[in-house]
Formats: sequence, C-alpha cells, structure tokens
Amino acid sequence: MTSPASWQHTHHSVAPRIPLSVPVMTGREEEYVRSCITDGFVSSVGPFVTRFEKEVAAIVGSAHAVATVNGTAALHLALLACGVMPGDAVLVPTYTFIATANAVRYCGAEPVFFDCNPETLCMDGAHVRSYFATRCVRKADGAIMDRETGRRVAAVLPVHVFGQPADLAAIVDAATSYGVPVVEDAAGAMGSRYDGRHVGLFGRVGCFSFNGNKIVTCGGGGAVVTNDERIATLVRHLSTQAKRSGIAYDHDAVGFNYRLTNIQAALGTAQLEQLDAKVERKRAIAARYRAHFASSASVRCLGVEQRGRANAWLMTVRVDPDTREGLLAALACDGIEARPAYIPLHTLPMYQMSPTFALEHATRIAPGCVNLPCSADLTDALVDRVAERVQMYCNERVVSSQHRSA
Ligand SMILES: *Cc1c(COP(=O)(O)O)cnc(C)c1O
Repeated sequence: MTSPASWQHTHHSVAPRIPLSVPVMTGREEEYVRSCITDGFVSSVGPFVTRFEKEVAAIVGSAHAVATVNGTAALHLALLACGVMPGDAVLVPTYTFIATANAVRYCGAEPVFFDCNPETLCMDGAHVRSYFATRCVRKADGAIMDRETGRRVAAVLPVHVFGQPADLAAIVDAATSYGVPVVEDAAGAMGSRYDGRHVGLFGRVGCFSFNGNKIVTCGGGGAVVTNDERIATLVRHLSTQAKRSGIAYDHDAVGFNYRLTNIQAALGTAQLEQLDAKVERKRAIAARYRAHFASSASVRCLGVEQRGRANAWLMTVRVDPDTREGLLAALACDGIEARPAYIPLHTLPMYQMSPTFALEHATRIAPGCVNLPCSADLTDALVDRVAERVQMYCNERVVSSQHRSA
C-alpha cells in the first residue's frame, strides 16, 4: 500500500517524494482480495468479476459491461466487435497514449491521425466532419472509402485525453451521419461526464482502463461498455478464447485470453466504491493548480471544460518547450515526479508512414506539455509546493531570457 509514510526520503532533504499518480487504497481492497483467496476464486471466473461488471455498468449507465485484462485489450475487442477488418482505416487522434493506435494495428487496420484541440488536447469534431466531406466517397455498398488510400473507414476512435471528455456531440454526429461507428477510448475517463451523462456510451461502444496509474485501478484491468447486446456478447466471447458455452475445448473463432481475474476484479470493486470521492479530490487538486497558475504568463493549464465534467485524472500544463527539460530536472531534484506528456503518435517510427489529416496544433503543443503530480491523496500543502516550484522555475526562465534579449 502506498501512503505518505512509505514515500522514500532523499538523503539531502526531509521533503517527501511526490509521485505523479499512484493508487490510493483506503477502502475495502484488502478485505475483498483476501476473500478471493479464502473462497478459492482467484482466476478468471468468480463472483467479483460479475460484481465488478455490474458496478461498471451501473456507474456508466450501460446495459452491458465486459471486464477485460486491461484497457488495451478492451480497445482491441471493441474494434473487432464493430467489424474493423484488416486493411480498414480507423480515425485516431495523434495526441494520445500509444495503446489507442496499437489496438487499431492489432486488427490489421491502419490509423489515420487527427489533430488535437489546443485547449482540450482532444480530437476535434469539425475535423472529423471535414475529413468525411473532403476525403471520402460513399461506395455503392454504402461503405465510406478514403479516396487517398482506398481504405474503408471502419470506425472513429476519439480519446478523452487525461480524462477530459472529447468533442463528443460533433464527433458522434459526423460519424453517424456517414454510418461509421464510434468507439470511445475512455481509458482514463472513469468518472468523467459529458452533457450530464457518463462518457463511454455516446458511440456504439466505450472502453475503460483500470491500470495502476488511472483514477481507480484493478492493478491491471479494463472494461468494454455498450447498450448493444450483440456487441457485448461478441466481446465476451472473443475475450474467453471464443469458447462455445458449456462445451470444453470447443471453439468457433480465433479468440483471446483477455478476461479479468477475480483477484483483479476484487481490488477494482473496492476501488469503484471510492470513485466519486477520488473524482472530487482530483478535481479539487486541479482547481488548486489552476488558481496558482491563473495569472501566470509562463504556465498554462490545459483541459478546459466545455460541455464536460472531467474526472481530472492527470493534471496537464503547458510551458515554453525550451523550458520543459530544465523544469522536469529541477522538479526531480526536489523529489517531484512530473512527466513530459505524450509524443504525437504520427512521429513515432511505427506510425510515421500512416496517413494524417489536417495536423496543425499537436506537434507544436506537445513539446511543452507536462503532467504534474495529482494522486488522490496529495495534500493541499503539497499541491502548493509543486505549483510554487513550477512557477518559480518558469519565472526565472522568463526573466533570464528577457535579460538575454535586452
Ligand atoms: C491507459 C490508457 C490505455 C490503455 O490501458 P491499459 O489498461 O494500460 O492497457 C489506452 N488509451 C488511453 C488513452 C489510456 O490512457
């Protein structure tokens, strides 16, 4: 269990190390996990898997939830269940975690990388609409084809970046008017709402992650949510080696071993009980950072809420890209774990050849983005300490560069 008491102390300072985002397990985690061992249900069947799925469905408001071994597996199965086939194209933001694009490649499909909104960091609905309008044709069979690549557009995969809801209304409207399904990568967005509803159900299917660094965790875990019974049944089937029910060793497709175990589900069930409290605390931490940086010329908070209510999973700020490396090093010296945020995926070696659409902001913004510590047990005093250190470093840089240019 990670608690302030177990944080390491650096030898030249008594200040606690401040991690970026660690699991906080102050509920019934130990009791539930222990009961798996006592009852003998430790593997991929057991009462906590069912309970976890029910709880996820209740929180999201979905008819179905299928637990998976992680969020990446959830994305892979969701795309397969929506009919993504080898050679297809899937629209993906370039500013996201690598797993979003990898899941597309696991299906043998190719991502088309989209830009991010400079304030929310999420995919822009206007871009999705303009891509369909300017780059696609509808074929006789109704399929939408990218004229430049000849690929069928099989899905749109928006991401709620760092928990901030994407431009869902516009994205879903554009995609559905062309008959293309939307799969929400809500991996980091458990507890986030858009237009008053929990994210994950605005398209055909949504995916969540319960990795250790997310707002609530199973250790590792994921879930697929949908109101479409056919999709839910298919995802469940594919996640259990495509085994036909009741019959041992009788399988009807190449499936996957993607089920969550009962131990992971037990931990996750205890964590879900604390979701609301964690969202409240994360939002308070974000608000406190925002107040610190409100009048700053050198530090800008990202993830502006539009129609959403974010879970504030990861706090993100933008600084001068030339300042970032020095800032991270200075913070590390103080025991503060900050992290450079995503590198746009279309610049990474395995995606450099993938098609892109209207990229403008992502590559310019990314080099200045930093995630700041925001674990749910971070105290106000420590938020203040981090914010002051960031402010101090960035101000010094502003002053010294003014000296240089004077
Ligand atoms: C965490 C994350 C994933 C992957 O989830 P895992 O559980 O780590 O496999 C996918 N997409 C996004 C946006 C994420 O943040």
